[in-house]
Amino acid sequence: MNTLFIKNAPVSSSHFWVRMKSKILILLLLALCAVYPQRLYKISAQLGEKKSDISYLVRNGLDYVSSKELSALLGGNIFFNSETAKLESNFDNYLLKVIARSQFIVLTKKPDGAPKSFQIPLSTLLIKDDVFVPLIYMIEYYNLVSGFQLTYESLAKNLVIEKAEDSGEQNTDTTESVIKKSSAVSSKKYDVYDIVIDEKANGTLITLKTNKALRIPKSSINNNVLYVFLSNSSVLPKLASRAKPTGLVSKVNQKFISAKNVQLEFTLKEGYSKTETFLDPETNFLMITIHNKMFVKPEEENADKSKWNFDCVVIDAGHGGKDPGTIGVTGVREKDINLAVALKLGKLIENNLDGVRAVYTRKTDEFVELYKRGKIANEAGGKLFISIHCNSTETKDNNHRGFEVYLLRPGRTKEAIRIAEVENSVIKYEENPDRYEKLTDENFILVSMAHSQFMRYSESFSDFLNQSWKKRVAIPSLGIKQAGFYVLVGASMPSVLIENGFLSNRKDEAYLVSKEGQNAAAEAIFSSIKQYKEFYEREIGN
Ligand SMILES: [Zn+2]
Repeated sequence: MNTLFIKNAPVSSSHFWVRMKSKILILLLLALCAVYPQRLYKISAQLGEKKSDISYLVRNGLDYVSSKELSALLGGNIFFNSETAKLESNFDNYLLKVIARSQFIVLTKKPDGAPKSFQIPLSTLLIKDDVFVPLIYMIEYYNLVSGFQLTYESLAKNLVIEKAEDSGEQNTDTTESVIKKSSAVSSKKYDVYDIVIDEKANGTLITLKTNKALRIPKSSINNNVLYVFLSNSSVLPKLASRAKPTGLVSKVNQKFISAKNVQLEFTLKEGYSKTETFLDPETNFLMITIHNKMFVKPEEENADKSKWNFDCVVIDAGHGGKDPGTIGVTGVREKDINLAVALKLGKLIENNLDGVRAVYTRKTDEFVELYKRGKIANEAGGKLFISIHCNSTETKDNNHRGFEVYLLRPGRTKEAIRIAEVENSVIKYEENPDRYEKLTDENFILVSMAHSQFMRYSESFSDFLNQSWKKRVAIPSLGIKQAGFYVLVGASMPSVLIENGFLSNRKDEAYLVSKEGQNAAAEAIFSSIKQYKEFYEREIGN
């Protein structure tokens, strides 16, 4: 405003100094901006006894960290190519390349693996000869390449780096088979020779298989049709008929504008938000993503705001019916405690949180398959999924006790992996246990991607819960952990699995059987839901 005013003001001696002053001010500001293009903060990182700082900045509500500093801390050798804006981090077993302003990262397993590219949900940033990466989406990759286990406490801005118990052996083939190689197709003489449409948890992915790197095509959406213009490229004449519409795509058409100018038309179903087109740097395939509306901020869309309200919490009482869960020292059944806490929690929500429904995966002592629990949650439009369980050690009646809250991520300690195996083993009671895909490291990268949009929310909730638990419940907290629980894979929303305590321990068991203990647990969870609701509404912008 000031500059405009001054520009239009008549030139006179009294205005001269005003002009000069404001010019100097603007120049100073510009100079400052050039020196400090972004305000950088520090997260604290802890590697064993060693403490250090890593630069980060906040963008889109997410913490982006310096990949230079993080890689160096994890023992990588760093090389930044300023021409290509790529940062290479060379670790003992892997070479990691992050590309500035891109959603792709490239992993190469040493000594002779082929480079594999992976897509993260958000682009990296270029900040002064360094690439800043969205930390929560990169943690799994850093775990893999460094052999460490990273845990980010986002509220405390604290990164804990531990030696992974299973580093080395299990990780050797992780990158294999994640990116499927294109199969040989006879019609490869065309620039665009095949099309594949996949439904993913967060949207629909269209892959156009190409023989060479094409320019990223122009695209637009009009009346629920996504138009993609392929110019100066030869396209398989019956490409559209090879497509099997699924997910958000209901129909595919192809129009030849001229021999080498083709328009593809994808008729979209309700519920899409934005689309993006990328070139996969490894295969050169064109990837078109169509995102679901879930978690798109309402102001970005003219969507019905009420869809984003925090209006439904899904409470999942673990086990039930023929599946008792673990059995305590004195014979207490896990399924009974889970249900008691779940019902108390539901009551608290119904009586105290206006506009929020409690949906139960079971309200009685009945057997519910794991996949159905996720289905119930998704169909109810849940905004948060809480699976309630109790733990136990292999040998009963010992001193090991404590509460844990689990996030859906690969288990990196033997104990976390064991607990997930125990909880997952209930599928033996189901008729078709083959429906669950084993959560190998490879599968987990895909699962993590599908859940990545929720992870930040799940983390925040578990932070709130951990704090709230410590204040209210007489079972000590063992903190926030991670492992691969099938029941969480199925719920397309932020989710946690709670282990209230160890029924193999007399103190924990007695407390969790008591009304006092069950009330305290339910209240701790309820209080964290209230806190999370406020956080969520700030984030979503309601
Ligand atoms: Zn359980």
